[in-house]
Amino acid sequence: MLFRKIVVACAVLCCVVGISCQKADNTPSTGETHKIRVVASLFPLYDFIKNVGKDRVAVELLLTPGVEPHSFEPKPADVLNLHHADVFVYTNKYMEPWVADIIKGIDNNKTLILDSSKGIVFINNEDEDHEGGHHEKEHGHAGMDPHIWLDLGNAVVMVDTIRDGLTQKDPAGKEYYQKNAEQYKAVLKDLDDKFRQGLSKCTKRTFINGGHLAFGYLAKRYGLTYVSAYGFSPDAEPTPGQLVKISRLLKEQGLKYIFYEELLAPRVAETLARETGAQLLFLHGAHNISKEEFGKGVSFAGLMEKNLENLEQGLQCR
Ligand SMILES: [Zn+2]
Repeated sequence: MLFRKIVVACAVLCCVVGISCQKADNTPSTGETHKIRVVASLFPLYDFIKNVGKDRVAVELLLTPGVEPHSFEPKPADVLNLHHADVFVYTNKYMEPWVADIIKGIDNNKTLILDSSKGIVFINNEDEDHEGGHHEKEHGHAGMDPHIWLDLGNAVVMVDTIRDGLTQKDPAGKEYYQKNAEQYKAVLKDLDDKFRQGLSKCTKRTFINGGHLAFGYLAKRYGLTYVSAYGFSPDAEPTPGQLVKISRLLKEQGLKYIFYEELLAPRVAETLARETGAQLLFLHGAHNISKEEFGKGVSFAGLMEKNLENLEQGLQCR
């Protein structure tokens, strides 16, 4: 009797705090309950996990579609959700600095915590010549560029880390995860080849983003120069000096296009376009997707294909 009271109290509490009430009841288990529960912080990880885990995992995106990721702070319900996950995958400590505090309270035996940047060399912006100038040491990033997924070589390494994490939590699925990871890595490698080929013969080698410093990895991988109006995070407004510099660069290099990005109003890109006569083109940083994109079931690879098309147009590669 006492036991039942405790279970009921727990179920009520779980419902109140927003966790699935089904977990506390005794209904017969379905195929669904055998899946391992994986929570991903950002969209690329969510998509990688779906591709590797397929039918053996139930994956959730921690950031609701449409939420700006750099200023994201988890709510108590998010934290509780992580406590109930089998695996939590985050991008890296520069992208999600809030993870350090949260994982202190998580039971390592229950929830496997995966840092997707394992084995990846970060771009240290203090070492790079980004022409942007003012981007150093903002938001405690200490110059480290958090946008590792925009290098398709890094994406392959991240997929391996996810495969190993899922296997550790669910050893019976080892071969399944291995096979899926190989298939998905072939898609990423094919995409990487397309980028390399598509961007090899461009008239222009500099691309300018009216948004934030998200595409440094992509630029480095394909030998391009990248300049952005904002720094690593779109929170801090660009300085007037930075805008003058970019406007001058657009004119000097005769660039016909300026890029803007997802989840940030293209105000700065529009101003620069107006001033210089350049046209606007979209680039998706893929941190997170909109509700509409989520509804359409967009994929990371699909977003990157579209990015390549727009880069080829913007840099006059055809
Ligand atoms: Zn970003």
